[in-house]
Order: sequence, then C-alpha cells, then structure tokens
Amino acid sequence: MKRGSLLILSGPSGVGKGTVVKELRKRNDQIWLSISATTRAPRPEDKDGVTYWFKTKAEFEDMIAKDQFLEHACYSGNYYGSPEGPVDEMLRSGRDVVLEIEAQGALQVMQRRPDAVSVFIIAPEFSQIRQRLLHRGDTTGDDLEKRIATARWEYTQAPKYDYIVVNDRVEDCADEIMAILAADKCKAEYRKELLKEDD
Ligand code: 5GP
Repeated sequence: MKRGSLLILSGPSGVGKGTVVKELRKRNDQIWLSISATTRAPRPEDKDGVTYWFKTKAEFEDMIAKDQFLEHACYSGNYYGSPEGPVDEMLRSGRDVVLEIEAQGALQVMQRRPDAVSVFIIAPEFSQIRQRLLHRGDTTGDDLEKRIATARWEYTQAPKYDYIVVNDRVEDCADEIMAILAADKCKAEYRKELLKEDD
C-alpha cells in the first residue's frame, strides 16, 4: 500500500486553521488530523483525546525524555507536541496526515521529514488576526498580545514553507490545499514504479 502524505499546516492563531481542516476532512474523510499533546488548560469546547491530549508539565516532559514527539514547542507559555507513533501508523496505512502546528514545530518537521509538504495559511490582512481572535472570545489580555507578537514572528518564517495560502473564503483555501496534496502525490519520485514497461 502507498504511504499517505504528511501535510504540515501552520499559520497564526486566529487565522482559521481549524475551520480549514474541517473543510479538508469534508472533502476527504480519509485525511487524519494528528491529535497533539498540550499543557495548556482545556477550553469549554475541548475534549481530552479528541481536540488534544491534555497533559501536566511533568507528563509532557516525560514524553520528551522518552523521545515520543515528532516535534514539540513552547507556545504562549505552554508546551505543544505531535506524538510520533500515531502519525507513522496512519501514514503506513495509506492515510494522509495533517499536523496543525505552529512554526517552531513546523521547522523541526521540515528538517526531520523532508518528504513532508508544508503550507502556511495567512489572513487577507494581518490586522484581521487580532479581530478574529477577539471575535473568537477565548483569548484576551496578555495571551492575546502574546499571540499577536508570535503571529508577527510566524509571518517572518512563512517563506520557509513550500506554499502560502490565503484564508479569505475557507472553501477557496481548502481547494488550494487539496490541489497541493494532489500535486504532492504526482511527484516523480513517488511514481517511478509506473515507468516500468509492461510485458
Ligand atoms: P491553541 O492553544 O489555540 O489550541 O493552539 C495554539 C497554537 O499551537 C496554534 O498555532 C496551534 O496550531 C499550535 N499547535 C497545536 N498543536 C501543536 C503541536 O502539536 N505542536 C506545535 N508545535 N504546535 C501546535
């Protein structure tokens, strides 16, 4: 069976990555979203084991010590990381895997998995990031300012990604990412076996 594609999806908090992933999964329910571990406090809409694996700092650091993460980073004062085992299991079973992660983690995955395809999602205007975070209502005060400052740094990293996609209409954004996934599967290095002559 052919391995699935590993898709890194980054972009500042508030850019609408979650909505984009939902739209991608509507188009293809075989796309699997990696469930990250985090030490941040759950929000009302969070469910342990569904949106995140919620961990204490000690539990998270134990996972780091046991080398269980494909990547991990500290973001807005909390740890976030992608457990490596389930990602590889899904890829081996032929499913496409999405890592919805911030830029420090994305850069680690680009180093460790050169075959990963990376997409950075931006807002049509930078100022919309603040508006979207305020509108979401779960980020205020200090955390809001930290996330905006981080978004500025993340924008400086965007040229290191394979692709930049603008999230104006979520459907258009998902169309472009589906096209990127389709193109990834057509890469010559994955299609060499199709070049054999039949006899
Ligand atoms: P939130 O607290 O809003 O759920 O997530 C904050 C940021 O952490 C978002 O940019 C999100 O994409 C990122 N994030 C979520 N899971 C991971 C992960 O496993 N690794 C890394 N590096 N970032 C993550």
